[in-house]
Amino acid sequence: MTATDALRIVLLAGGVGGSTFATGLRDEIAGRGGSLTVVCNTGDDLWLSGLRLQPDVDSMLYALAGVKDLAQGWGRAGDSRRVADELAAWNVGWEWFLLGDLDLGAHIARTSWLREGLSPTDAIARLQARWDLGATLLPMTDTEVDTHVVLDAAGTRMHFQEWWTRHRARLEPVRFENPGIAVSVPAPGVLEAIAAADVILVAPSNPIVSIGPILAVPGLADAIRAASAPVVGVSPIIGDAPVRGMADVCLRVAGVPCTAAGVAGHYGARGADGVLDAWLIAAEDAEAAASVDDLGITAHVEPLWMSDAARTRALAVAALRAAGI
Ligand code: GDP
Ligand code: CA
Repeated sequence: MTATDALRIVLLAGGVGGSTFATGLRDEIAGRGGSLTVVCNTGDDLWLSGLRLQPDVDSMLYALAGVKDLAQGWGRAGDSRRVADELAAWNVGWEWFLLGDLDLGAHIARTSWLREGLSPTDAIARLQARWDLGATLLPMTDTEVDTHVVLDAAGTRMHFQEWWTRHRARLEPVRFENPGIAVSVPAPGVLEAIAAADVILVAPSNPIVSIGPILAVPGLADAIRAASAPVVGVSPIIGDAPVRGMADVCLRVAGVPCTAAGVAGHYGARGADGVLDAWLIAAEDAEAAASVDDLGITAHVEPLWMSDAARTRALAVAALRAAGI
């Protein structure tokens, strides 16, 4: 890179952890004249009440637009539930999966564009054109690969959103599946962004149900392995615990230790199977640095708590520094 080149960043991300990290990254690169392309997980997507929902894409959209309900962690700030109450009166949808009125506006807009024949990528382009996000949002794929939670050997299953939002991850899964992912293709622009990147970052997102589906899109992990950019990940596990959410259950089901080193091993060093060059771990996990290094991944001990905008931005700076930027 020369001083005149703009820094091109690609971020792989899920919802809460991914979008929080993305805001820090966006704030940091604004002053450096860089560009940020976010490859969003679409494994959480679902059809509900006749509408197409993309929870992680929408979390990213709302967070970067500054309209997210930060206290709740999802949806639009200041939202109301008049439509949701009407839908409940008709017994339409899931009463435990609240769709706010403003949020429904995005789902109706997206669904109407999909019905007109636009691809999910094009619909997301229209949604994000409303705000100056300081980033470009791409879905990982335009193929529908909604995550199922398989609950027993007979294949009994439910949608991931039902397992998480209704049952709060209390039903023990056998495995997670993304039907159709083996024949999905990366969304337009994803492979190009990866190939052109100066740095590729893996957000502190759920390794199994957020980053897992992204890396499972055929060709996507290979493109990361072939990229010239360094690949730096941020641990979503601090002190052997997920900061929030159900990553501990997901990791257990996948047979991955719920530790910073365990997740590093799951992603693996860039090579035949893995993708990481460097891995940020918290001071609480500093003793794991040597075992991460032993994997062929350079460990960097940094503060990983994204508890406010300044700390989140500092984490973005640390991730770029680990990439030599
Ligand atoms: P989801 O799609 O809404 O579940 O969100 P993500 O997959 O993007 O992120 C969920 C993960 O974010 C959880 O597994 C947490 O471990 C992680 N996370 C949340 N807050 C923080 C934080 O402040 N620091 C770090 N390092 N990870 C966090
Ligand atoms: Ca998600």
